[in-house]
Amino acid sequence: MPPVEEWETFPFDGDMTPRELLPPVEREAPRQGEGGVDCRRCAASDDEYIWTSERWRLYPLQASGLPVVVLLETREHYAEPGDLPDELAAELGMLQARIERAIRSIGEIGRVHVCRYGDGGEHLHWWFIARPTRLPQLVGSFVEIWDEILPPLPEEVWRANLDAVVAALGE
Ligand SMILES: [Zn+2]
Repeated sequence: MPPVEEWETFPFDGDMTPRELLPPVEREAPRQGEGGVDCRRCAASDDEYIWTSERWRLYPLQASGLPVVVLLETREHYAEPGDLPDELAAELGMLQARIERAIRSIGEIGRVHVCRYGDGGEHLHWWFIARPTRLPQLVGSFVEIWDEILPPLPEEVWRANLDAVVAALGE
């Protein structure tokens, strides 16, 4: 095992060995909604989102072990950040700041991680992952694994957190 096992943030105890890295595959698997065809995010109605604008929509993942996890999506189908026209890219920068600030307004938030992966669905989306404050084990990238380990928030707490984000976005 690499020294990652010694990190305070490592979520697991016990004997572990890294998996063998397999050789490269012939080609990468297609992502959901590739080329905008049968894209679930394009097909989703505004009702599924907690906040929408002319060009953007904010999607809440279901209640999990963290205060909130939301995805910022473009309304139109783009695949990569580099595909965005300048006007949308500029607006994205302002929105990232605005959404991060809105999530912090929940209170007791230690950090809001703003990330882009995009290996699942092709429709361009940014992750906003809030971690609670004062829990040093949840610091850094392992927070996403901790999110799978911790029990989901009570429904009413999670909804109140989302309401706080929406209220702050309206200000
Ligand atoms: Zn799409």
